[in-house]
Parts: sequence; C-alpha cells; structure tokens
Amino acid sequence: MHNDVTHEWVVMKFGGTSVSSVDCWGTICEQARGHLATGKRVMIVVSALSGVTNLLSRLADGVDESEKAAIRAELTTQHQELITALGLEPWAEYGRHWDSLLAALGDAGPKMKDEQRACLLAHGELLSSSIGRAVLAAKGLDTVWQDARKLLQTTSASTSVLAARCDDHSDPRLANRLAAEGSVHITQGFIASGADGQTCLLGRGGSDTSAAYFAARLSASALEIWTDVPGIFSADPRAVPEARLLRRLSFSEAQELASMGARVLHPPSIQPARRHGIPVFIKDTNRPAEPGTQIAARSPHEEAQVKGVVSRDNITVITMENSAMWHQAGFLADAFAVFKRHGYSVDLVSTSEATVTVSLDPQIPAHYDSGRMAAFLADLEGLCRVTVHNGCVSISLVGNAIRTILGRLSAALDVFQDRQVHMVTQSANDLNLTLVVDPDHALSLVRKLHQLLIASQAENRPEFGPSWAELSRQMKPADLAEPWWAGKAERLTELMEGRDAAYVYDLETARAAARRLRGLKSVSRLLYAVKANDHAGLLRALAAEGMTFECVSLAEIQHVLDCVPGTAAADVLFTPNFAPRHEYAAALELGVQLTVDNSWVIHQWPDLFAGRDIFLRVDLETGYGHHKKVITSGVDSKFGISLGHLPEVRHAIESRGGRIVGLHAHTGSGVINSEVWREQLDRFLDVLPQFPDVRVLDLGGGLGVPDRRGKPGFDLDRLDKLLAEALTGRNVELWLEPGRYLAAECGVLLSRVTQLKSKGQFHYLGISTGMNSLIRPALYGAYHDIVNLSRLQEKAQQHYRVVGPICESGDVLGEGRFLPASEEGDIILIANTGAYGRVMSSHYNRRSPAEEVML
Ligand code: ADP
Ligand code: ASP
Ligand code: MG
Repeated sequence: MHNDVTHEWVVMKFGGTSVSSVDCWGTICEQARGHLATGKRVMIVVSALSGVTNLLSRLADGVDESEKAAIRAELTTQHQELITALGLEPWAEYGRHWDSLLAALGDAGPKMKDEQRACLLAHGELLSSSIGRAVLAAKGLDTVWQDARKLLQTTSASTSVLAARCDDHSDPRLANRLAAEGSVHITQGFIASGADGQTCLLGRGGSDTSAAYFAARLSASALEIWTDVPGIFSADPRAVPEARLLRRLSFSEAQELASMGARVLHPPSIQPARRHGIPVFIKDTNRPAEPGTQIAARSPHEEAQVKGVVSRDNITVITMENSAMWHQAGFLADAFAVFKRHGYSVDLVSTSEATVTVSLDPQIPAHYDSGRMAAFLADLEGLCRVTVHNGCVSISLVGNAIRTILGRLSAALDVFQDRQVHMVTQSANDLNLTLVVDPDHALSLVRKLHQLLIASQAENRPEFGPSWAELSRQMKPADLAEPWWAGKAERLTELMEGRDAAYVYDLETARAAARRLRGLKSVSRLLYAVKANDHAGLLRALAAEGMTFECVSLAEIQHVLDCVPGTAAADVLFTPNFAPRHEYAAALELGVQLTVDNSWVIHQWPDLFAGRDIFLRVDLETGYGHHKKVITSGVDSKFGISLGHLPEVRHAIESRGGRIVGLHAHTGSGVINSEVWREQLDRFLDVLPQFPDVRVLDLGGGLGVPDRRGKPGFDLDRLDKLLAEALTGRNVELWLEPGRYLAAECGVLLSRVTQLKSKGQFHYLGISTGMNSLIRPALYGAYHDIVNLSRLQEKAQQHYRVVGPICESGDVLGEGRFLPASEEGDIILIANTGAYGRVMSSHYNRRSPAEEVML
C-alpha cells in the first residue's frame, strides 16, 4: 500500500464555453499533451456544454409539454452539432447517458423535488465528459472516463443536495490507483455522491469547486481553471471593458473577489487549494498563450489598495426594527434562531440603534422559494417589524487593509449621492467594503467606482495588467507597421548636428491620422483640438485634410486665424473654462461658435449672450481617462454643467432671446474603448428632447493612441458602427474633437546622452532635456517608448532609468528601459511626443525646451 503520491498530477478544469467548440477541444488536447510531456498525470474536469445546465434547470422548474419539446430539441441540436463538427461516430457510452436523459425528460413536467433535479442536471456534465473522452481518444490521447460520483463524496455537514460540499483530504491511495489506470483522465465537474450514493450537486458554477477537490485529493502540483477570459480582472470585464487583468493574487484576495461577485471562480473552490497550498492558474481557452492569473499563498502587491470592484445581484435585504427590545439581552440570538430554524443563511450584517439589517446568502437556492420565505417572515415578524427588499445589488470594493484607506475612498463614495443605499458593511477581515443598492443604477455605479479607484490609478502599476478592452482588440496590420522614424534615423541624426534637443514632426503621419478619421461615416465634422500642438505647419496640413479647429483661449483663436489662411471664424469652436469675460466678448466679436461650460456666466454677463446661438458643455457624469488628471467629467472635474442644471440654463439663455444649438461633452483623454463614446452619445440622446434647437452633438476627443509599439490602435471601425447605430433616425450631427490622436504619433523628441551613473539599484541615463520639454511622464505617469537612435542595430543590454537635467526628483522620462549600453553624445529618441509635448513645455531652471523642426 502506498502512503505517498508517487506521480505528479495537474488538474485542468474547462468551463461550458471551453468545451463547446472544435477549436477548444484542440486546445484541451494540446495542453494535456504539454503536461504529459513533462511527466505529469492529468485530470480533466469538464462542465456541461454552454447553456445546457440552464436548459435542464428550466425543465426542473416545471414546464408544459410544448416547452419541454422545445428544450429537448435544443439539447439535441446542441450536442449533435458538436459531435458532428468533431467528426465523432456514435458510441455506446454516450448513448447510455443520452437515453438516461431522455428517460429523465419523460418525467419532467411539474416542478421537481431537489433529488430529482440533481439527477436531471447531472446529465449535462455526463454527456460533455463522454464527448470529451471520445474526442481525446480520436486525437490519439488515451483517456480514462471517470464517474465523479465514485470519486467525490459529500460531507455529513452538507445539508443541501443542490449545493453540497465534499471532503478535501488528500488521498494518496486514490492518486496512485488512478495513476495505475492511465495518465489522462476525464471527469465531470458539478456532481458528487451523497451518503446513500445519490447524485448531489455542488451549486451553480460548481465545476471549479469539483476541480479544486480533485486537486486536493490528488495532491496536485497545479490547478488550472480554463474559461472564456484570460484571468481575474479588477471588475467583470464584460460589464467594465476598462477592467484590468490581475496577474498575481493571494488566496485571500482571490477568495474575497470570488465571494463578493467575481463569477469567474466558484467561491468554495479557493479553500481546498489554499489548504493544500496548490497554486491556481486562471487561463483563457481561446488564448492559451496569455499568462492569465496566478493565485498563490502570497501576492507580490499586498499594500493597502483597492484591487477590484465587484457586484452580486439578486440580493435580499431584510431590515428588522424593534426599538423596545433592542437594548434587551438576547434579541439578536432570538432573531438569528428564526433564521437558523428556517434554514436561512446570513451574508452581510449591519446594525444601528434600533435596527439590524442583513442580507441573505445569494448562493443558496432555497432562499428563493416563496412558500418557505413567507413562513420564515411570519415567524420573524413575531419578534420585530420586518421590511424586505428583493432583487438588490451588492457592490464591493475589494482589496487589502481597506480600513486604512477609507479617507482615499471617500471622494469615490460620492457616486452614491442621491442613490438609495440599503446597507453598508465593512468586512471583519478588512478585505472589503460593501454597499447594497437598488438594481437600476448598479452597473453605472460599478463603472464609476472602477474608473475612480482603479482605471485612473493603474498606469505603470505592475499589479494591474492590460485592460480587457486592450486584450480583446484585434491587431490590424497597421498596428504592426514600423513607426515613421525607424527608416529615418540618418536624417534625424543629421538634424541633431549642433543641437542638444529637438522636437521633430513628420506631417505625413499626421495627415494619415486625419484620413483615418475622415473615414468615420457617422461623424459630420472633425475639429482639431489646437491645444495638443499649435505648430503652424501642422495646423495648415490638418486644415488641408478637412479639419476645422477647436480652441480654448482667445490667443489660440487668433493664432489659428493668423496661421491658416482661409479659416473663417465661424469654423472655430471656442470652449473656454473659467476664462475672463473679455475673452468671451472678443471671441464673440470675431464670430466664433462659443461653448458655455458654466451657468454663472449666463447670469452674471447676460448682455454677452443675448440673442446668440450657444453650445453647452455638459458634464455627462462619468469620466474616463488613462490617468486621474486627464479625466474631464464627473463629480471631481471642474468642467461642464451638471445634468441637473440644464433646465435652468436653458431657461436663462432662452429668456434672453438666445438658443442652444449644440451640446458638447469631453470625458477624458487616452481612452481606447470605443464603447465610452457610445455611452456618452446615449446619454446625450436621453437629454436631447429637452433641447428642440440642438442640431449638433459634439463628443469631444480623447481617442487613445497606443503608448507602446505592438499594442493595437484605436478601433475606429467599431466606433463608427456604435455611433451610427445610435444615430439611426435622429436629426442631429455628430462632431469629434481629436487632439492627441492627430498629433501624437507624428512627433518625436530627440536629445543627447549627457552622463551615466550607477547608484543604488538604478543605472541612470542622463539626457540633455527633461520635464522642461516633456512633462507628460511626470504629470500623468505617461509611458513613451524610448530608443537609442545611435545604436538602433545593437542589442539591448541594460535597464536604464532615463532622466533629464532638471532639478526635480520627478524629472524621469522612463523607468527600467532596456537599451543598448549607451555613451555620452548618443541620440535618444522619445516616441509619440507630437501632442502635449512642446505646448506644455517651460523654461524651468532657465533651460530652453527643445525647439521644433518640421521634416
Ligand atoms: P465558465 O463557464 O468557464 O466557468 P463563467 O461564466 O462561470 O465561465 O466565468 C467566466 C465569466 O466570469 C467571464 O466571462 C466574465 O464575464 C465573468 N466575470 C465576472 N467577474 C469577473 C472578474 N472579476 N474577472 C474575470 N471574469 C469575471
Ligand atoms: N454546469 C454547471 C453550471 O452551469 C456547473 C459549471 O459549469 O460550473 O452551473
Ligand atoms: Mg464558472
């Protein structure tokens, strides 16, 4: 008899979408082979085909004959289509499970008892695992089919056959027995057997937990959860495309994210892995090369911060009020005894003077049985006044040491203003702060909180990987093209003769960006945001490509009118913010189109606006951007008029004979997710009926430019499609105001290496200009690619911290840049600096910023 496991096991679990296509089975086979090649044994745990458990659940809820026939047809088609696509011939084992399903279907009709439901639902996994065995065998991978019910037994503490728990002790005898049977095994997730051998389920989504039990019992060296997203994100990526991939998490962090709503992991699956110290990897079956998320005992980033904003719906909140009894000993004991007696499990608790508010654990199906609920509430009402809110949503901020950062969170919590909050709780383990709200605004609250607490803080923070929006964009050939400067190294080197630093612009690159934007069919007018780069040559080139101009100061307006022959004042949009009165007066005198972003000016300077056609800059409440300093709407931003003030502003303007003819909004910069513009447009369309004279909706700018080579560019086609859809049947024009998108890639900043220094852990590469020329890295933590132009052909050898000559610790242009060993006088190129480079420069330290050169 063996006492120790003599073979190394890996458990791989594949979810519903991961077993429903031919390609996925190809990946499963490859991954299993990969482990075999390193001498490991493999246990594959599968879910039912995508959507099958839902169909079986509907049957168990009670159906009439026609519905039953429809579900049966759907189940047949789904399984048959996959079998055909996989090229499998009929086989006996599958036939046996299918016949058993048909027999169970025969009994379906009235609502099923729990035991009968468990038996019916088990068929989903029995069928998919049978298909799995056949397809792996067909691919030449000898695979043993295991009935999970023979391997996993529920514990005596399990009270429900629908959400049972199993023993997770390691079992070397089992491990060795299976190893003797074969190297690759396939079994079902979700199912186990009870004390009498009856079929039990582990709860919806329970296949992850089955896999964790197998990993524990086999003392596996790794547990891999393969699903349809490449890891755990800082929010549900399908609801929040800006959600960032969390590459490394501790078991506690993962447990908290899963328990509070990150559906990608079934919450009970963490404990067995944690108890046995088995690392867990979350991987994407459609992108097996992506590294995914790794969960282990510790994560490298456990400092106090919010790592996720997650939510759970279908939460029942029960408020118990009893002012008389509250101070008496034993009220809580009596109240909770009623919960216990009726089998209700409490999830969150908060208390005040005379009320106790609790929520029910949404994982437990019995909580939704109306008959049972009525009896429970009747009992509870014997003790206190009871109010019940069904269908609420809990929103949790998850991270380490939440209590120590409440101050930082308070500004973000402003988003709950004017929203009904049923309860607020702070977990005893200090890993979450949770608010329970009505469902209507939950999604927008999650998005806002994620933007304020994570997306705007995540730049250059190693704990946050790429966003879902970035990962799911397709690379286009243009994204992989060489940048313009790669073929012009010689020319650029010549230009630097006799110079210490220079901004060099390539107009053809700016023109190409303009032409791409002109392809947007949904957009009627493109206005270049002059503040990004006001070089006269660039302005003329963009005007020749059909761009008009958006200015934010009187000086910008005058500059455009002076430099670009043929520009009519009426083609300029002026969007000032807290500018002095005389600028408005002069601009209106010139005849530009004015945007007002403060109702105060209408009331204080009424004569200026009388009888005018005005645009209003609206704060559409949600801000987006790559850094908090470039978010230009939302509660924290100084821009725009709140939605609530619009009726009053309209009245003030119209009562003076003016008209509101356009609405303008700009939410922030460096946004790569096109859905954001659609969301803004939808919000505009909601308020549009209040403004009968409005003909223009100006969605501002902010279209992101990839900050490093090899990242996909902004998806203009998708933007066009989303905007066009929303505009169908609407009598308004759309305008856009790109700045960075037009100018960033056309410019590079060239400088020379001045000095080198090694100090502490850093190798410093000093260059001849710094934040006096380019302040974006210091101001926004912006990333710019940096190359040694003098050594383009040499191999990178050293990680450098690239710094400028300014007397400021923040004068760092790039951290940890891997470059060839560099020498005094080498030319260093900082890429994508055509926008917000020279225009934001200064003479700080009396150092002149880099001069501009047009190629
Ligand atoms: P499977 O069938 O593979 O078990 P699930 O649907 O159970 O897949 O879980 C994967 C889904 O979890 C993703 O498609 C995603 O929409 C959702 N999800 C919710 N929250 C998160 C999160 N924080 N990170 C990743 N995915 C999440
Ligand atoms: N098939 C089951 C469900 O859909 C279990 C799982 O997929 O994890 O809930
Ligand atoms: Mg799942």
